[in-house]
Amino acid sequence: MSRTDTCPDCGGALERMTLQGTDAFGDLTIVDEGDDDGFLGSVRADEILEPVPYVCVECRRVLWYAER
Ligand SMILES: [Zn+2]
Repeated sequence: MSRTDTCPDCGGALERMTLQGTDAFGDLTIVDEGDDDGFLGSVRADEILEPVPYVCVECRRVLWYAER
């Protein structure tokens, strides 16, 4: 898996973080529920993603990526 590992603002290095404080986030997931066009079964279990924060070590900008 390759992605840009530099901050889009300052070009600093991004550091992968893990979510803590599960009482605030719970089981936070990103789900693609598809288009709400009336099709049945638009929720696909294989589209459940986990948000992963990446923090810039220079300016502390946080970027979120959705990973499985
Ligand atoms: Zn930065």
